[in-house]
Amino acid sequence: MDATVIMEDAIPFYRPSGNECVLFETAFRQGLPVMLKGPTGCGKTRFVSHMAARLGLSLNTVACHDDLTAADLTGRFLLKGGETQWVDGPLTHSVRQGGICYLDEVVEARKDVTVVLHPLTDDRRLLPLERTGELLEAPDNFMMVISYNPGYQNILKSLKPSTRQRFIGIDFDYPAAEQEVQIICKETGLDRMRCVPLVNLARSIRNLKDLDLEEGASTRLLVYCATLMMAGISPLEAAQATLIEPLSDEESAKEGLLEVVRATF
Ligand code: ADP
Repeated sequence: MDATVIMEDAIPFYRPSGNECVLFETAFRQGLPVMLKGPTGCGKTRFVSHMAARLGLSLNTVACHDDLTAADLTGRFLLKGGETQWVDGPLTHSVRQGGICYLDEVVEARKDVTVVLHPLTDDRRLLPLERTGELLEAPDNFMMVISYNPGYQNILKSLKPSTRQRFIGIDFDYPAAEQEVQIICKETGLDRMRCVPLVNLARSIRNLKDLDLEEGASTRLLVYCATLMMAGISPLEAAQATLIEPLSDEESAKEGLLEVVRATF
């Protein structure tokens, strides 16, 4: 096997929908931060891992939650063997070492997180560490990437314009039908003949407006469904476990989904 083949294998599979790879690479080369918007399970995280590997960058991913503070990202003094020692958080680590720092679902984090993001995401590219008195300048190979799901947004949880307007935005959605079929085949090994109805089923579920689902069936759930089918679970059972239960707790909605599933299998 020659070296290029080995390199290709090391890059996580990502099937592009448009020019997002070129846009991302250009943003990286120009030192611009990127914001990925889109529903859950539509490929944002996979895209970042793919691009990190393609660009030869390390990737530090932080899954943001409502208790995540600026100090969790920058670092803190910890007691070690009777002494207090500064320990870098993931953001500081990335700024020192270079690479991509990816804050997944950033709107979940506490508001003070935006304070550390601002000087890093404009042309200063600086990370001030108040506690240690350091002012870190991000190296050329540092890139800030955030993601969020506009579908979940409410007034209390959204990014302020002053934060949003520091990022290049790339809009993600579920892949087009043919691309999604290719993704499911490649990810799970399920044959095309069985992937096509699965993707059509997901598309019907995404178009159901009257069941009041918070979000449609994601590509991730289709991968799960195909994985169960590959492991010998019947299509109906697999669809119930992956395309009905994770989407709703309400009996009437689940019945509506079951009808659509039964029409396919
Ligand atoms: P998100 O970060 O948007 O919630 P992920 O990136 O984790 O979603 O995607 C979930 C799964 O869906 C991935 O693990 C992968 O199996 C599959 N997937 C979705 N979109 C793509 C794509 N364009 N190319 C390859 N795999 C994809």
